[in-house]
Amino acid sequence: MKIQHQDSDLIVFESALFRTTTSILIGTDYILLVDPNWLPIEIEFIANWITLYAQGKKKYLAFTHSDYDHIIGYQRFSSFETIASRNFVENPAKEAILNQIRTFDDSNYILRAYDIVYPKIDVMISEPTTSLVLGADKYCFSQATGHNSDGIIIYNESTGLLIVGDYLSNVEFPYVYDSFSNYRTTLNTLENILTEGNVKILVSGHGDVTASQDEMHTRIRNARKYISDLQYAIEKDIAFDLAGLLAGYNFPQIMTTFHEANVKLLRQELGRGINPGEN
Ligand SMILES: [Zn+2]
Repeated sequence: MKIQHQDSDLIVFESALFRTTTSILIGTDYILLVDPNWLPIEIEFIANWITLYAQGKKKYLAFTHSDYDHIIGYQRFSSFETIASRNFVENPAKEAILNQIRTFDDSNYILRAYDIVYPKIDVMISEPTTSLVLGADKYCFSQATGHNSDGIIIYNESTGLLIVGDYLSNVEFPYVYDSFSNYRTTLNTLENILTEGNVKILVSGHGDVTASQDEMHTRIRNARKYISDLQYAIEKDIAFDLAGLLAGYNFPQIMTTFHEANVKLLRQELGRGINPGEN
């Protein structure tokens, strides 16, 4: 499995699928594993790393959100102390999410040595922001909805590591399943953390880690621009420059599908009807 980033505080593994990241934040007396994914051989690679290097340490497992690619490895690490949002715990679509995993495994002849189970959460993040101390490190967890309805941002204030889930990716424009209004709020939350905190490294759920403050702010700007351009096109009933958007990314077929779903949702939010021209 590709190790995308490694230093004394952080390892970021990258799956062969969708460039999905798994993070391990390394404390002196604990580790925090985030979103272990996708393939069995990749999950075992991560588990081996933990066996070799995290012996005797307290083990936490956090989920940035409940999209099936981010919870797919849960049961392999189910003895860890788990952390996720209240909305994650109360998600009414648990069975549908598990069925996405079953469909994925079935379609690809994938056998796993563990059951497919929705994560049982020990520490539930209920407030807009919650401070927690893990080992000797101070963390701030923030609600982050918009992409989906149960996201959290994980910020290690002691080391400056910021794990954002499916926001601020350099390989995807915003995928909005929950709401654009919530997505904008989350972008504001992220900007506040960048401005007020001392962020050293940002890890997105898909794509490249960045240690550049400029790059972090550029990613926020790009996300806001996509949303405002899309809103402008819908409100003025003019064509959105899809070719221009796709030129910045690698996977035009699937990304057209995600963009079209965004258009549909934003039209609904703006009260514009489902199809262009149908106000
Ligand atoms: Zn994802």
